[in-house]
Amino acid sequence: MFNTAEFLKSSSVIEECPQDNKPEFAFIGRSNVGKSSLINALVNRKELAKTSSKPGKTKLINHFIIDENWYLVDLPGYGYASVSKVERKAWALMTERYLKERETLVCLFVLVDSRIPPQKIDLEFFNKLGEWGVPFQIVFTKSDKVKKTQRMGVLKNMQSQLAETWSSMPDIHFTSSQTKFGLQQIEELILHYLSLVD
Ligand code: GDP
Repeated sequence: MFNTAEFLKSSSVIEECPQDNKPEFAFIGRSNVGKSSLINALVNRKELAKTSSKPGKTKLINHFIIDENWYLVDLPGYGYASVSKVERKAWALMTERYLKERETLVCLFVLVDSRIPPQKIDLEFFNKLGEWGVPFQIVFTKSDKVKKTQRMGVLKNMQSQLAETWSSMPDIHFTSSQTKFGLQQIEELILHYLSLVD
């Protein structure tokens, strides 16, 4: 379990992001996917990600410092229906630049709701990540809502969609912020990567 977690800053461009070269892990997903809940559960803080969801801040790149050692980055969600095209385009560009240019980004976790079949917007996003060469893994959220016996089907469904464009599969994890299922796996993965860069 991570020991300390503090909100550090929000940035609208990559130039404003922390410059001290600590390794970072970022989280992204469609709005309502359970991103804030997962971040809070991972760092064992009830309201951490909410600190950043004050008006205005959800559209920014939010850095949290964890154990004074690495950054957890909360990226703006995609697929909001209620915002203008111009605004959506601006967030997409901000995120794109961050993902393409942020050299300290170790891994991007793309969150996907395990109750919903793979959506075009997610699949297109994975393809972009491939084009840009961004290392990413897929994290299914809200697994408590999917019966154990159905999880294999959910996994296979995603894999067969990915197989249409990907020759090698990204890692795929099942998690639930509510039951904490799968969170240890994500923690161990982060710690493993950190042990490689330290
Ligand atoms: P965000 O918009 O991606 O940050 O999503 P939130 O973390 O705010 O969660 C969106 C909704 O999904 C809320 O109503 C949460 O209570 C619910 N939710 C989030 N995580 C889980 C989970 O692990 N299990 C269940 N059943 N619901 C969840």
